[in-house]
Amino acid sequence: MKKTNGKKSDVNIISMNKICKSFPVEMGGEQQVLFDITFDVNQGEFVSIMGPSGSGKSTCMNIIGALDTPTSGTYKLYGKDVTNLSSDELAIVRNEYIGFVFQQFNLLSKRSVLDNVMMPLMYRGLPMSERIRRAREMLKRVGLEKFESYLPTQLSGGMKQRVAIARALAGDPKLILADEPTGALDSKMGNEILQFFKKLNEEMGITIVMITHEFEIAQYSNRLIHIYDGHITYDGKVPRDEKVLQK
Ligand code: ADP
Ligand code: MG
Repeated sequence: MKKTNGKKSDVNIISMNKICKSFPVEMGGEQQVLFDITFDVNQGEFVSIMGPSGSGKSTCMNIIGALDTPTSGTYKLYGKDVTNLSSDELAIVRNEYIGFVFQQFNLLSKRSVLDNVMMPLMYRGLPMSERIRRAREMLKRVGLEKFESYLPTQLSGGMKQRVAIARALAGDPKLILADEPTGALDSKMGNEILQFFKKLNEEMGITIVMITHEFEIAQYSNRLIHIYDGHITYDGKVPRDEKVLQK
């Protein structure tokens, strides 16, 4: 991965152009959830996508994460048009470009910490010794090298999230996509995870897009995109005062 030392570069990671998303509703017709969502994220940025519940954050994240496709508009991930891919093609794109971190960690509870971190390397055609070497390197990076043979259930929430971050990093992704990554943690552990994201971004130039509904959490990032009722209502530096975001 190209190092940027936390500085925004001109390498484009995400390019969303007039993305709209509608869902069919029970009585017929459809409900539009995203309206002309347009923004770019370059390598080395740490961006928060913030908005109240129901504003369309998860719908937006599913499109960014190649988990779903838009109704209209175009989406390019690392220069590759992923707008109209099949679900199999989307799975390949996800595995190659994106490391996911979820609120509920999504670790395999019956597999060791090391096995969990090795997961994204399964489809890479690497020899086992190389997968193990790489997974150990990532565990070291999150300070959990002594816990490789533990089961996730033996770890605290903050440690589980660090395992999930090591797993996200193992595939050498272009982008870390984190959905409410501290939502299941107390504030002390949450703070540690956010500091860690900041370090990954500043020291290693890793691009991070983080979904949150809390202004305090967005403070850890360098840029804030605010979504309200499916529209972008703010895109810029993280403001000092949340009032700027009211719409
Ligand atoms: P947020 O993550 O900001 O809380 P969501 O993106 O989950 O918001 O939801 C935005 C709106 O889209 C809500 O009204 C929700 O009911 C609707 N929605 C989300 N996913 C679906 C779906 N798969 N089918 C129908 N409606 C959906
Ligand atoms: Mg959501």
